[in-house]
Formats: sequence, structure tokens, C-alpha cells
Amino acid sequence: MARRTAKSQPMFEPTRRRVRAITRRLEKAHGPRPWDPEGDPLGGLIATILSQHTSDTNSHAAYAELRRRFPTWESVLGATPRQIEQAIRQGGLAKQKSVRIKAILAEIRDEHGRLGLDFLAHWPIDRAVEYLCRFNGVGRKTAACVLMFELGRPVLPVDTHVHRLAKRLGLIAPDTSADQAHDALQAICPDELVWPFHVLLVTHGRRICKAREPECGACSLRDICPTGIRAGWDEC
Ligand code: SF4
Repeated sequence: MARRTAKSQPMFEPTRRRVRAITRRLEKAHGPRPWDPEGDPLGGLIATILSQHTSDTNSHAAYAELRRRFPTWESVLGATPRQIEQAIRQGGLAKQKSVRIKAILAEIRDEHGRLGLDFLAHWPIDRAVEYLCRFNGVGRKTAACVLMFELGRPVLPVDTHVHRLAKRLGLIAPDTSADQAHDALQAICPDELVWPFHVLLVTHGRRICKAREPECGACSLRDICPTGIRAGWDEC
């Protein structure tokens, strides 16, 4: 293994070319991740709210139980917050989430006359993000998840993995907040790569570039990653 000196370390380089190179390498390492939107933006929004501050297992169970007890969104809206709370209690923070879910459904129905968010597929992206972020409990990441995962719109969600890897890879400055990272990464991610770039960074963050002990020696990005190079893993 050869170690580079500090002089030869690549600088912070937020470019579309690097995003393309990283995505290509991660596709080779983990397999292709084609776009595959679910097409259910309202279900996706409620599921994402249920996923906050809990594990995937618990939030999936909470969503399944909510849909089992209340098969339509109209029936969720007609239920009391207490009934919703009981249905989603496995997801944690059930009281707070039940109030938010009911308020969101009521607002959508009052504004649009029916329960659905399909119209967001046709709105300009900035307007769609702004619309979703008005709801209590919905921030940039949740809005991006709904637009990308449900409607296939090129809006990059920055979760904890994307945020961490983007900093280690020199795509954003070390002091960039997750909120700021949405704009910074969106600006350098080509539209057609938004889905694979997000999904592959999450996969890579879970398998290799873990929060505590990144496995730089096993990483396919080590020779183009400033953090990996600093650790001496540019060549093996
Ligand atoms: S080289 Fe290390 S820090 Fe860089 S992406 Fe790979 S695992 Fe993460």
C-alpha cells in the first residue's frame, strides 16, 4: 500500500463529473439502482412521517397497522387522534404523529377537495418542495423522499448517510448542515442520477462507509476520496 503525502491529496471538489464518477463506481460495487418510483405520494408522506425517530421495522409495522384499521385515507381523517395513535403506537411518538397525520389530511382535503397528492407530479419542483414543507413535521428530506421515491422527480433526499458520505468524499464542506447540503448536492447531481446516487450512497454508507469505522481498505472509492487518501488507502 502506498501512502500519498498531504501535498498530493485532492481538494474539496464539488463537481458533476465527480458525482458521475462516484455513481459509476458504486454501481459496479453494489449493482445498478434503476429508478423505481412507487406512485403513491400521500402514502409515502404518511409513511415518512411514521419513520421519523424510529427504526424501519417499527415504522413499517405502524404503517401496516394504520392501513389495516383504516383502509382509506378518508377513514383515517374520520378517526379520532386517539384511534390513530393506537394504530401507530409501534412507531413511537404516536401521540405527536397522530395529530400531525390528521392535520395534514385535513389540510389537503380542505385545499384540494380530495385526499391525494398526485398533482405534485406536475408542479415545478421548487413549488412542490415548498408545498410539502409547509406541513408540520415535514422538512427538506421528507419532501425530497416523497417527490423522488413516490413520483420519480429529481429531488435528492439528504439523509444521514448521504450527508456523511458527501462530507467524506469532499462533495460538500465539512461544516455544511444537512439542510444546506440539499441545495449544494442538488446543484451538482445530474437529474438522471438523483435516484441511483442517493440509493447507492445509502447502501455504501450502510455496508462500507459506516459512521464510526469506515472500511476504507475495502472501498471502491478509496483512491478518489480525500478521507480515504488521508487515511493512506489510495493504493493497495
Ligand atoms: S474511502 Fe473511506 S471515507 Fe472514503 S468513501 Fe470509502 S469508506 Fe468512506
